[in-house]
Amino acid sequence: MRKLHEVLRDWEAVIGLEVHTELTALETKMFCNCRLSHTDEPNTNVCPVCLGMPGALPVPNEQAIRSIVMAGLATNCQIQRRSMFYRKHYFYPDMAKNFQTTQGPVAFCMHGHLALEVTGEGAAERPTCADTAADGSLLERAADGSYTVPVRILRIHMEEDAAKMVHVGGKEGRIGGASESYLDYNRCGTPLIELVTEPDLRTPEEARRFMEKLRETFLTLGISDCSLESGSMRCDGNVSLRRRGEVRMGTKTEMKNLNSFKSLHDALAYEICRQAEVLERGGAIRQETRHWEPSGKRTVVMRVKETNDDYRFFPDPDLAPFDLSDEFVEECRARIPELPDAKRARYQASFGLKRKDAAQIAGDPAVAKAFEEAVAGADAQLAGMVANVTVNLAPSCVALTPSQVRGISELLAEDAITFAQAREVLEAIDGTDEDPARVVDARGMRQSTDADALGALVDEVLVRCEAQVQQYRAGNTKVIGYLVGQCMKAARGTGNPKLFNKLLVERLES
Ligand code: ADP
Ligand code: MG
Ligand code: ZN
Repeated sequence: MRKLHEVLRDWEAVIGLEVHTELTALETKMFCNCRLSHTDEPNTNVCPVCLGMPGALPVPNEQAIRSIVMAGLATNCQIQRRSMFYRKHYFYPDMAKNFQTTQGPVAFCMHGHLALEVTGEGAAERPTCADTAADGSLLERAADGSYTVPVRILRIHMEEDAAKMVHVGGKEGRIGGASESYLDYNRCGTPLIELVTEPDLRTPEEARRFMEKLRETFLTLGISDCSLESGSMRCDGNVSLRRRGEVRMGTKTEMKNLNSFKSLHDALAYEICRQAEVLERGGAIRQETRHWEPSGKRTVVMRVKETNDDYRFFPDPDLAPFDLSDEFVEECRARIPELPDAKRARYQASFGLKRKDAAQIAGDPAVAKAFEEAVAGADAQLAGMVANVTVNLAPSCVALTPSQVRGISELLAEDAITFAQAREVLEAIDGTDEDPARVVDARGMRQSTDADALGALVDEVLVRCEAQVQQYRAGNTKVIGYLVGQCMKAARGTGNPKLFNKLLVERLES
C-alpha cells in the first residue's frame, strides 16, 4: 500500500466522527433510579425499567438533560426547545426491552461548530494543495504550517447505553465463536450523549485533534470522565475518498474499536490507504462496518451496513415530548465554566506562557486548577517556571500539591537547584507534604549564586586550564562544557552551572 501522504496528494479523504460519551458524573441512570457505577458487582444496579420488564415506565433524568444542553452550548449548537425520544428497535440480549431509547430527527442540540486548530507536525498531514476548508473558505497557514478549520456538528442527541457483554473462550467479540457469554446490566440505561459531526475532517490528524478537543471540553464541563481506555468515551470513524476537485462524496466505511487517540489516527490512515488501493485497481468501496485490529495494524469487515429502515424508528409513547424553557437553557449556560480555548488564551496573556504549554495545561481541568493555585501572585519569570514544572516534571509524579510545585519552581527560578536536582527532590517529596526547600537544604543541594565566591573559583579554573582557554579563544567554544565541569568540581557540586557558564563566558570574551 502507498504511504498516507502520497495518497492524500491524489485523493481527498472525507471524514466524519460519531462520538458517544457516557455521562459518568451523574448519580443515576437515564430513565430509572439505579445507581451508575463501573465498579459494582455485575447485575446489582438493576430494576424493572432497565431490565426491560413489560409495563415498566421510564422517567427521564433531569441532570442528564442539563448535561447535554451544556455540551450543546459549549459546542455552539442550537438548543431545540422541543424534541422527543424515539424507539430504535433491534433484537440483541444487551437491551432486554428490544429497543434503545434515543432521539429522532430533532435532537436536543442541532447544528453546532468548533474551530479546530492543527499545530505542530500533524499540520503537515494535510497537503498544501488542500488548503480549502469544507465550507469553501481558504485556510490560512502560520509560518510553521499550523492552521485552523471550522468543523460543523450535525447534532448531539441523548440516548441510553446497552448492557455490557463479556464473551469467554473461542473467538473474541463474537457470540457465535465464544463458548460462554455473560451479560452485565449495570451499564444498561447509562445516560449517553452522541455527537455526530458533518463530514468536515480531511486528515486522520484532524480527526484525532477534534476528538482531543471534544474530550477536553467535556472534561471541563465535568459531565464525564471521558476515558477512551475504559470506554466511557467512544468514537466511530467514517471515511470515504474522492479525487481532488470532485464534489460528490464517495462510499464510506465506518471504523469501530478506536479506543485510543492513536487507534483513531492509525485506523483512519490505514483505511484511507486501503480504499485508495481498491479504487486505483478499479474496484468499488462497499459500505460496511470495519473493526480496527491495533495488533495487526489493519481493519477487517465486521458487517455490511444495516439501513435505518431496519430499526423501525418511532416516537416513544411512554415519554412525552420535551419542552425546554428559556430559563432552563440560561441556567445551563450559567453553569458552563471557562472553556479550554479561553483558558489557554488567558494563560498566554496574563502569564506569558508559550502557546503549547498553555494549551496542555488548559486542556485538563485538574491540571489547570492545580496550576492556577501554584501560580497565584507569581511574576512572569516564575509563572513560566511553574508552567515548565507543570508540563515537564509534574506529570511523572503521582501526587504533588500546588504548593510543592510552587516551591520547586521558586528554587529553579532562583537558580538554587538545577533541573536534574529538581527531579531528585520531586522523587523524594512525591506523595508527601514535605516542603521542597527543606529537602534541598537537608541534602545540602542548594547551589551558591554568590557571584563573588563563584567568580574566585572560575578564576582558579581558568589559570589551571590554560590549554582549554586557548582552544576557546581560537574558536572552539565547545570546551566551555569542560570548563563548567571543572568549576562544578571545584565547588563540589554546589555552584550553579548556568551562573558558572555566564561568568566563564564573561571572562573568556573580555
Ligand atoms: P449512517 O446512516 O451510515 O450512520 P450518517 O449519515 O448517519 O451515516 O453519518 C454518520 C457519520 O458519517 C457522520 O459523521 C457523517 O458526517 C459521516 N459521513 C456521512 N457520509 C459520509 C461520506 N460519504 N464519507 C465520509 N463520512 C461520511
Ligand atoms: Mg449513524
Ligand atoms: Zn434501573
